[in-house]
Amino acid sequence: MRRRRRPGGISCKKIVRELTNYMEGLSDASLNIKIEKHIEQCHKCRNLLETTQKMLQLVGDEDAFLKAFEKHTKTEPEVPSQTEKKYCTKKK
Ligand SMILES: [Zn+2]
Repeated sequence: MRRRRRPGGISCKKIVRELTNYMEGLSDASLNIKIEKHIEQCHKCRNLLETTQKMLQLVGDEDAFLKAFEKHTKTEPEVPSQTEKKYCTKKK
């Protein structure tokens, strides 16, 4: 199985890039399938998708959401603030 780090055969970064197209129905059908598979298996991206959809409805500005989104993927979203600072290891 090759999908350990890439659920649906697609990386989280790719999801980030394609998500706006996906939400607007502009991406390929084959890509949609990959994205959906990825989101099924990757709770992080699923959360981001849900958050993004809410944000888009509120903000209505894709640039604003993309910036927030990139920021979100660079940091680990699930790190509890103070306890994890002791361990300065990066996940790979
Ligand atoms: Zn993902």
